[in-house]
Amino acid sequence: MEKRYQIALNDLINYLKNSRFLNDKNMENAFRKIPRHEFVLESDLDYAYYNEPLLIMKNQTISQPAVVSRMTEWLDVREGQKILEIGTGSGWQTAILSYMVGKGTVYSVEIKPELVKFARKNLDKLGIKNVNVISSDGSIGYPQASPYDRIIITAACSEIPLPLIDQLAENGLIIAPVGDSMQSLILLQKTSQGIVEIKNQSNYVFVPLLGKFGKK
Ligand code: SAH
Repeated sequence: MEKRYQIALNDLINYLKNSRFLNDKNMENAFRKIPRHEFVLESDLDYAYYNEPLLIMKNQTISQPAVVSRMTEWLDVREGQKILEIGTGSGWQTAILSYMVGKGTVYSVEIKPELVKFARKNLDKLGIKNVNVISSDGSIGYPQASPYDRIIITAACSEIPLPLIDQLAENGLIIAPVGDSMQSLILLQKTSQGIVEIKNQSNYVFVPLLGKFGKK
């Protein structure tokens, strides 16, 4: 990695650790192995390692590093798992998940064809092979490859779409930002007794989930 990126990445990692975001060593390795500057627009290369969301196309952003680290850590992603992601965007969060599952697989659904193309290009540049980017409405999930060990929704929903709960494996975890103008990050587990809330934290802002079971 170029020295200017390396320095900026180290600063970002230190900042996140000091603000209690990046706690897991494997998560830190993922941040080091998946260069965020490969997922931003050329005009934003200087800001790639700022702890900020950045525009990747009109009204769409690459997620903030703090948010990606929090969601991925809460989701307790492990080697070998099968993951469903709704909202590929730039593919950066997707690539982080792909690193964390190793020999596992990530299915990532994106509704905007331009972003499907952008994400595939970014993932190809890094030679990532264990990801399938699907051009479709992810609010109905991707039943073809279900059940999933983990599901992550990276766009704001009014409630978690029921098809996604159906496609989650027993004991699986699902994370999503739920709410109106501000959202809470909610982590749920599917158990034999039903759905259990594991974590809930307010004050997040995501772009809206579109599609059949998206925001009304
Ligand atoms: N984590 C991504 C950013 C996600 S932004 C990154 O770091 O780059 C949310 C994404 O969800 C956007 O790309 C948006 O187009 C997509 N999206 C919104 N509604 C969707 C739906 N119903 N199905 C699939 N993708 C959707």
